[in-house]
Amino acid sequence: MKCPYCHHDDTQVIDTRAPEDGNTIRRRRRCTQCDKRFTTYERIELAMPVIVKKNGSRTEFETGKLRGSLMLALRKRPVSAEAVDTAIQRIEEKLLSSGEREVNSGYIGELVMRELKRLDKIAYIRFASVYKSFEDLSEFAEAIQEVKKN
Ligand SMILES: [Zn+2]
Repeated sequence: MKCPYCHHDDTQVIDTRAPEDGNTIRRRRRCTQCDKRFTTYERIELAMPVIVKKNGSRTEFETGKLRGSLMLALRKRPVSAEAVDTAIQRIEEKLLSSGEREVNSGYIGELVMRELKRLDKIAYIRFASVYKSFEDLSEFAEAIQEVKKN
């Protein structure tokens, strides 16, 4: 941390305040050269990783889009809104805690499939058939067999 007065490189932390809002840390610092004091605020940033699509383009993560694909797969299925929220939360937590700056869209697809498998088998098959774009009937049958197993 550079001193804002003399631009000296070395400053000393003299006090650290726990965050009041949960994610900003306040620090009192002292410059070891000019002895001036100043305060810094450090934000703890939990950023969603950027999604890398198959064609290499990057896109921002959007909860709305995630919800959209889940809802599409779950159309007319007996799954509560609360269960969908929980699934979305779990996916978001996984992404946040990965600590990655970028993830492949395929990884998110896998996370969605994992949640759908738990929520509703029909929705899972629906999503998987679009997402994995099954090329023939045997692939489709395989996926159904897999769902039946658990
Ligand atoms: Zn200084």
